[in-house]
Amino acid sequence: MKPNVAAAKAALSHLDIEKSPSAIRAKSRDFFWYSPVLKARLDHVEADFVVAPRDEAEVIEVLATCYAHDVPVTTRGAGTGNYGQAMPLAGGCVMHLQNMNRVRDVQPGRVICEPGILLKDLDAHCRAHSGQEIRMFSSTWATATIGGFVAGGSGGVGSCTWGSLRDLGNIIRLRVVTMEETPRVLEFRGEELARVSHAYGTNGIITEIEMPLAPAYDWVELFVAFDDFAPAMDYAEGLGNEDGILLKLATVFEAPIAHDYFQRVRPHVAEGQSLVALMVAPQSMDGLLTFTARTPGARIVYRSDASDWEKAPGRIFEYTWNHTTLRALKVDPSITYLQVRYGFPDHKALVERIRAQFSPEVLQHLEVLRENGKAMFAGLSLVKFTTEDRLDEIVRAHEDAGAMIFNPHRYTLEEGGRQSVDDRQLAFKREADPKGLLNPGKMIAWDDPDWSYERMYAYPGLRAAE
Ligand code: FAD
Repeated sequence: MKPNVAAAKAALSHLDIEKSPSAIRAKSRDFFWYSPVLKARLDHVEADFVVAPRDEAEVIEVLATCYAHDVPVTTRGAGTGNYGQAMPLAGGCVMHLQNMNRVRDVQPGRVICEPGILLKDLDAHCRAHSGQEIRMFSSTWATATIGGFVAGGSGGVGSCTWGSLRDLGNIIRLRVVTMEETPRVLEFRGEELARVSHAYGTNGIITEIEMPLAPAYDWVELFVAFDDFAPAMDYAEGLGNEDGILLKLATVFEAPIAHDYFQRVRPHVAEGQSLVALMVAPQSMDGLLTFTARTPGARIVYRSDASDWEKAPGRIFEYTWNHTTLRALKVDPSITYLQVRYGFPDHKALVERIRAQFSPEVLQHLEVLRENGKAMFAGLSLVKFTTEDRLDEIVRAHEDAGAMIFNPHRYTLEEGGRQSVDDRQLAFKREADPKGLLNPGKMIAWDDPDWSYERMYAYPGLRAAE
């Protein structure tokens, strides 16, 4: 089945089709270039055309047309993913959801919206409507969409209290369109959500999302400095386990991350100091100050509600999650990163083991994450990149020590996840995308069910560079 791109494009020409070649190129790219490994492989990737449906009926039209002409479709929210999730490896159509950005309903504790709304706009709407906010968001809050977060993200600001997107209750309902001759519209809740959430749009397109909300607060943002790393890690974990203190964020940066890479923070921390970033509900500030006073060596260097800094640092969460990597990359282009799960109860011992082996080649950046009621860590470690072989060696050493790696230097769901097939996602793809046209090359199990994961998967359909 050879794609007939020209026929599909002509049939969709009455829709919002991108005409500018430079915009087509820009809308074919995400933040894959964070990884030197992906940059070397995906830099040339480009869609044949970009179409932006205005509503679900137009999504159905795009999918049915591309199905009829065997054209691959890669869906795009805002293209801020950094695993190459939104890269159209086989070319074809990029379906950009920028026009589908309406909020349909806000109720106490829940919101129903279209997938293309930016996280910040969704938050602003819910706050203005009834003083509510989304429970968690990626640190790309200002630029990313809710659909991209659900289909390509994992957790973020808010995960120290609410856990990950995959945890029960953090997504309520998804409405999904299939890629068939006559696309179907399905509604998923509960057990069924795992079929399409975090599936990179490989087996269905999300057209409506129902998410839980929490009361909105004017979060107080703080930086707390420590002379050593271990007390900083203990403090952040301890706070994460304080039942009565409401947090939205608790992040640890090993020295010299704050001093070397956070330019506005640099005048306020010494090179050898590790830093903790926090977002605390205003009514929890008394508790936070008491906890901090009980912690020897903890020194608050910034609080957003009482700051004397000459240059304000901006929103604190834009130093955390993958923004840490972005800030480091801007100062030192040889920096890359790894995504690590330091699971309870060995999380702190594991961090120390890895640190002893690799610091300063690998610097610890830890996000407090709640899992089953306990604080543990998601590590987004900064790595000084030298070669792919060395990076693989570092990955293996983490795995040998017992830390799980979600490898951000791979573009497939499996390698960026738990290195195993998600049977629910594969089964749904068989049903919902029988020709395998949705975001091809991202689900290994579809292409090669016997893949062993010992080496990097290379999608055979990846367009060659011209
Ligand atoms: P895109 O990149 O456009 O898409 C992501 C994936 O979802 C793609 O595979 C796409 O095909 C698919 N998709 C998009 N919309 C739909 C839809 N409606 N139906 C089906 N599939 C769809 N991620 C986190 O989880 N937490 C973080 O804190 C975080 N911080 C980041 C910081 C930086 C600086 C950067 C560059 C990235 C970060 N990310 C983070 C990754 C990414 O920004 C987020 O996951 C973000 O929410 C993705 O949203 P997007 O709109 O850009 O999605």
